[in-house]
Amino acid sequence: MIEASNPKILIIYTGGTIGMIQDPLTQTLVPFNFESIYDQVPRLLFYDIEVNTFAFENPIDSSDMQPEDWQQIAEKIHENYNEYDGFVILHGTDTMAYTASALSFMFENLSKPVILTGSQLPLGIPRTDGRNNIINAVEIAAAKRQDGSPVISEVCICFENKLYRGNRTYKNNAENFNAFVSPNYPILANIGVNIKYNYDCIAKVPQEKMTLCAKMDSNMAILKLYPGITRNIVQSILETKELHGVVLETYGAGNSNKSAWFLELLSEAIARGIVIINVTQCKGGGGVKEGKYESSFLLGKLGIISGYDIITESAVTKLMYLWGREKDVGRVKALLGKSLRGEITVE
Ligand code: ASP
Repeated sequence: MIEASNPKILIIYTGGTIGMIQDPLTQTLVPFNFESIYDQVPRLLFYDIEVNTFAFENPIDSSDMQPEDWQQIAEKIHENYNEYDGFVILHGTDTMAYTASALSFMFENLSKPVILTGSQLPLGIPRTDGRNNIINAVEIAAAKRQDGSPVISEVCICFENKLYRGNRTYKNNAENFNAFVSPNYPILANIGVNIKYNYDCIAKVPQEKMTLCAKMDSNMAILKLYPGITRNIVQSILETKELHGVVLETYGAGNSNKSAWFLELLSEAIARGIVIINVTQCKGGGGVKEGKYESSFLLGKLGIISGYDIITESAVTKLMYLWGREKDVGRVKALLGKSLRGEITVE
């Protein structure tokens, strides 16, 4: 019997591997009916937590996720914000990092937990990692501090016994259960015998009212440099119709080639109002150190924004969010270089 004071969690099911079970007739993997979540994850019944579910009408493989789907998730959370203590989003792993980053920007002054999780093996398979991931995510979404405020008030990814800041995390492994990493920010909790929260690194609960701005502008490009990239390729990307922003994936500490044609194309794009952020290709840690080498100094002089240690998933969704929200290039540039939701360490 659920007490009125028990925490209430809304699980939003969007699709992905986690929601699959084997159809007894066809033996194929099909999405299961989320209203029967307690049948699939009976251990949830042991908690004094009320769990309700909402499922996308057509659950999707997350490689089909689009900004409209992020908006649908955000709006569902917004509609139910006052009624629930926390939100768990079940999502495919392929683009979970993009969704987590996008949601983190859409919600300003989030004061409740939004935890994304999924699995590498379907729930309907005996060795699934999905059951633990759901249970951990629900427990974390319901966790309170002694004063009754939530332990977590940000968008996170909970996967394989770790809790990560959503906009610092990306999918790093298609084989292992620990599919995600957050190289430039410590984990927010380690889930062992006890859940050990890293309170120093968790966002503080804001006092201001939460607001949602779910408008995204998709006119962005990711331009990854490689030795031999041609003028034609760079030009065709930078001269794409209606392009508003570019994540320039550079080498090491933010370096590029210094060819005159390359710097000229970048400079012309900036003059046309395109906002460019410099993000390192190094996935294992570290970031852009503008001015360490001559080439990053030159990029900075052109007006390219240093992305410091931001990851690509976060940079591209931040550009989409800022251009969806702001009209003025100067504002977009100023906000891009700042930490809005703990996604970047500005030095
Ligand atoms: N392709 C699947 C998805 O991202 C993989 C997964 O769920 O892990 O939806």
